[in-house]
Amino acid sequence: MNKRTPLIAGNWKMYKGCRQAVETAKTLLELASEVKDVDIMIAPSFTSLYLVGNILKNSNIKLGAQNICYQKEGAFTGEISTSMLLSCGCRYVIVGHSERREIFKEIDENINKKINAVINSGLIPVLCVGETEDQRDAGDTFKILDKQMELGLKDFFAEDLKNLVIAYEPVWAIGTGKTATDEQAQESHKFIREKIEAQFGKSLAETIRILYGGSVKPANIKQIMNMPDIDGALVGGASLDATTFSEVIKYK
Ligand code: PEP
Repeated sequence: MNKRTPLIAGNWKMYKGCRQAVETAKTLLELASEVKDVDIMIAPSFTSLYLVGNILKNSNIKLGAQNICYQKEGAFTGEISTSMLLSCGCRYVIVGHSERREIFKEIDENINKKINAVINSGLIPVLCVGETEDQRDAGDTFKILDKQMELGLKDFFAEDLKNLVIAYEPVWAIGTGKTATDEQAQESHKFIREKIEAQFGKSLAETIRILYGGSVKPANIKQIMNMPDIDGALVGGASLDATTFSEVIKYK
C-alpha cells in the first residue's frame, strides 16, 4: 500500500450559477466534513469561486479553478490570473484539461507556461494528460502521454514539482460513461510514474499523486482506487450532485 494521501477532485465544468454552486457546496460540506484521510477539492466556474471559497473557508474541502492565464496581469481581456484565484481562496488549478486542449486548441507549450505561473504563485497545479480514442486505437497511448508530460513539464526541476498532481484522463472515457478498465488505467498510471522517475528522479515519482479521470462514479471508484498507482480521481459528471460526489469521496 502506498503512503500517498488520496485526492478526490470535482470538476464542475460550465455548470451551476452562483446560487446553485453555493447550495451544492453547502450540502457537500455537510456530507463530507468528517472525512479525514482523503483530500477533497471542488472546481466551480470562475464566477462562483469567491462565494464557494467563503463557504469552504477553514474546511477540509479545498477550492480549485478549472483554468488559468499564465500572465501576471495586464491587457488580457477575459483572462484570470493566479493572484485573482488566490484572492478567492483557491488552492488548486486544473491545467490542460482535454476539453481545453480539444475545443479551445490549447497547446503543450502554453500548458507549460500555465504550470509555471501556478507553481510560482504557490497554487497547486493539476496537469491533465490523456489520449483520444483514435490515438489509443493506433497504439499511440504511451507516445502521447510521453509528449504531453515532456512538453508540459519542460524546464522544471524536481523541487518545483513537489506539489504537482497529474490527472490521467483518457479522452474517450470523459463524459461518455465508458471507463478505462482497471488494468488500462493502471498501465497508464505506471507509465506516467516511470516517466516522472526518468525526468525528475525516484523521490518525486514515489510521492506524486496521479489521479484517474473518466466517468468515475460511486459504483466504480472503489475498484479504481485499488490499483497501486492510482492516487485519487478527477470527477466531472458525478461531482455535480453533492450526495453522489460524497459517495465517491467516501469510497473506502
Ligand atoms: C472530467 O471532467 O475531468 C471528467 C473526468 O469528467 P467525467 O467524470 O464526467 O467523465
